[in-house]
Amino acid sequence: MINTYSYDELRRSKLRLSLLLFLLLNIAFSVFYVATAINNTHSPTPPSIMVAVICVITLIMSNYKMKNYAYQLNVFSVIIGLLWAWHIAVRYNQLQPVENNFLLFSLMMVFFISAISLADYFVAFCLHSLPPALMVIILDQFNHILIMLFTIALPLISFTLHNLMQKRSEAFTSELVNRLSEEREKFSDLSMIDPLTGLFNRRGLQNKLSNLNGDGPTSHYILLLDIDHFKAYNDNYGHTMGDKALAAVAVAIRDAVRSRDIVVRYGGEEFLVLLIDVDDGYALSCAENVRQAVLDLKIPHLFNDRVSTTVTLSAGIAIMSDSDIEASLTAADNALYLAKSRGRNSVEIAALKSFEPNTQPAKS
Ligand code: GH3
Ligand code: MG
Ligand code: MG
Repeated sequence: MINTYSYDELRRSKLRLSLLLFLLLNIAFSVFYVATAINNTHSPTPPSIMVAVICVITLIMSNYKMKNYAYQLNVFSVIIGLLWAWHIAVRYNQLQPVENNFLLFSLMMVFFISAISLADYFVAFCLHSLPPALMVIILDQFNHILIMLFTIALPLISFTLHNLMQKRSEAFTSELVNRLSEEREKFSDLSMIDPLTGLFNRRGLQNKLSNLNGDGPTSHYILLLDIDHFKAYNDNYGHTMGDKALAAVAVAIRDAVRSRDIVVRYGGEEFLVLLIDVDDGYALSCAENVRQAVLDLKIPHLFNDRVSTTVTLSAGIAIMSDSDIEASLTAADNALYLAKSRGRNSVEIAALKSFEPNTQPAKS
């Protein structure tokens, strides 16, 4: 799944691979220099041996901590770059008579390593290439200044352009990934919201419930709320007016509870409120407040020519058991059914003894 984390991880792994390649190439060249020196009965230069030793040790150590080492790419680049500059100086003085192509070959070797392994890291590229390049110019005493400048300038210019393009495409990809994850978060949030009322839907409730787990010794209460005779309301006023009434009731419920309580459109004209960290007394008075708030909306509800009233709701209350949420919902539903059968526009609380809350109720 693409997200900002996986993209960052990709970039980190690129950095690690670049360091790995950098170390391997340097080992290869230092071994080559040591081997040719021995072959020609020269003593290998101390810096070429040091390059091999440092790179091998880093390679072994980085097996365990490659993540930490990768961030030190600049440090490795400057150390190895200085060692190569030193190596070129020592080797140049050893060569009698001086071989024409030695300086040029050395320069190309350094740029080869940089271009292959440090192409995406401008600072590291410069730190590794510049000390040997300056050393070559000094040793050459500006005798072949044109060819030297050409050999140095060409890779530097190409590299700078390549780096510019790389930076742009990285910025573009990074923005794209950020936007993608923002959009996904937005859609994920939207998928938990009921579009008509703006309340959480069942998926939102599931999400909230899973986040609630492990909140410590607190007790939560469930209010199950159902609009009374809403079918008749729809039949009389039409579906559009029904929707408006539903939205108004949703706002009234939301306003009657605390912001930390979770309000859910549980079904068509059914709502659920999860009262967080409260006791039964608070749950009861809260349900009463909600019932009153909906009554106070005074939404006319004409049953027939003779019976005219306003929109009301009934509520069932039950304590929420963390271990058996289904049982708590059933209990709240039974209490709601009781409220309906007792004439509606009323509140009933499920008998506490039928539940075994595994926590102590707390005062809010
Ligand atoms: P009770 O008091 O027993 O709850 O009676 P009721 O009529 O409210 O219950 P019933 O389950 O018979 O009817 C629920 C009605 O709610 C039926 C359906 O038309 C209406 N309803 C459900 N969802 C929506 C909705 O999104 N918009 C509208 N306008 N009406 C809805
Ligand atoms: Mg109803
Ligand atoms: Mg219903």
